[in-house]
Amino acid sequence: MVEKDEQFRTLFELSHDAIMLLDSASFLHCNDATLKIFDCPSIEVFCTKHPSDISPEFQPCGTSSFDLAQHQIGRAMEEGHNRFEWKHKRLSGEEFWAEVTLSQTRWNDENVLQAIVRDISEQKKLQHSLEVAIKNAEIASIAKSEFLAVISHEIRTPIHGVLSAQELLLGSDLTDDQRENATLAHNSARSLLNIINDVLDFSKIEAGSIDIESVAFSPKQVVNDVFGLLQRIADNKSLKLECDFPENTPTYVVSDQTRLQQILINLVSNAVKFTDRGTIKLLSQFTAQNAEKMNWEVQVVDNGIGIEASKQKKIFEMFSQADSSTTRKYGGTGLGLAISKALANLMDGDLQVSSKVGEGSTFTLNINVEICHKDEVDQDEEESGLQRDYQKRMLIAEDNPINQQIIQKQLEVLGIESTIADNGRDAVQIYQESIGKKPAFDIVLMDIQMPIMNGVEATTQLRKLGCTLPVIILTADALKEKREECMNAGANSFLVKPFELHQLVGLFDDYLRVGD
Ligand code: ADP
Repeated sequence: MVEKDEQFRTLFELSHDAIMLLDSASFLHCNDATLKIFDCPSIEVFCTKHPSDISPEFQPCGTSSFDLAQHQIGRAMEEGHNRFEWKHKRLSGEEFWAEVTLSQTRWNDENVLQAIVRDISEQKKLQHSLEVAIKNAEIASIAKSEFLAVISHEIRTPIHGVLSAQELLLGSDLTDDQRENATLAHNSARSLLNIINDVLDFSKIEAGSIDIESVAFSPKQVVNDVFGLLQRIADNKSLKLECDFPENTPTYVVSDQTRLQQILINLVSNAVKFTDRGTIKLLSQFTAQNAEKMNWEVQVVDNGIGIEASKQKKIFEMFSQADSSTTRKYGGTGLGLAISKALANLMDGDLQVSSKVGEGSTFTLNINVEICHKDEVDQDEEESGLQRDYQKRMLIAEDNPINQQIIQKQLEVLGIESTIADNGRDAVQIYQESIGKKPAFDIVLMDIQMPIMNGVEATTQLRKLGCTLPVIILTADALKEKREECMNAGANSFLVKPFELHQLVGLFDDYLRVGD
């Protein structure tokens, strides 16, 4: 049997951590690891040192090592135990980070401290490089969001020009050939806009800045609208679109109609894209949760190419497609399902798939919707069509000459006479000069990004001048913060570019009742 003393001595000597005994003035004893760690030739030499001698003059916090060592020793004496990180210095001068544990003990009938010093330089280095990596990732993520916001603005503005000009062109007298070409160009511009909108949604989902809205709408109408949009593409492939609603289908529910429609458009257009013959079915089921909420389950069933079991999880990831040849054959970005699932989650629901290769796929969307107790909801907008002759006057602040031209032409069609200001300051001035004169302006359309004075500032100025006209702000950037900024400045509404004529009409109907 090895003596107990011997056992403890072995533990003390074999430790890789420096172990030492000290009182408030100096070191009393240490193990071999101490000599190794501090580059010290012998225990005797080590015992002539004060803790501050094996530390740089100042600790990284700026306090002198001597003062801080006294403080830490005092604390250990008082509390019996003290653990802290400490910058040490070897006798060779090299500095290193250590974790120091001081514990009170008795030695030769005296109250002394045992210090265990563990070199944590590697750990610290790793921690530092992790912190740097996190910081860099955060900087990169902010840069990416800013880049996307700028690019979205830059791209959406010219697309607005392209789409609006095409709409005007399609509304004019064209030969069949010209109409076909103009329609092709219009459809391509719309797909380009869809891709940009997907990329924008993706960045907004990442930034957590998507707001889910609550509006009352008819579930049947939403499905009809989705089928209406995709009917022609389905017809071109001789595919049938069928929907089935159970008897307990509510007339109206409350949820985010636009986002729900976006999910359904994505599911049905995927079903059409990946199916060559047969029928695409949309089945609904409503289950009451409580007096206020119900679950709406929508299944989009196709008998198309199907998805391999191993890919069924992956397709919900951003930029992910089941097969790398998909882009070549069918197009797409691999964003639609990821966005749809994220939106479903934001709407208190989920999106899942079950599928068999060669037999087809079923996408199941579950969302919680609020029960709408009203029997009728204002549906004016949908029935209204685009024929208008408002006979009103509008003040437009817009700096882009192409957009100025296009918007004036769009307004002409609606019987609205307009005056253009190139920037916010001019708009305020034109308004000021018009006060008391006839015919007066009826509405203001204000671009947000303009030189000299932006739309938000100009709206604030107009309100200060007592202007009570409806102000609609135009923005290329759909961020929630921007919307709030406009509303706080006194705008009545806002329109995200690129917008189509029917959206303008929708807004004008709210503010410019014909015949007023
Ligand atoms: P995209 O359609 O733009 O590629 P999605 O995120 O909408 O992006 O879809 C991702 C992938 O999931 C598609 O590329 C396709 O491989 C697969 N997929 C989606 N829906 C279906 C479907 N109904 N049938 C077969 N494969 C599908």
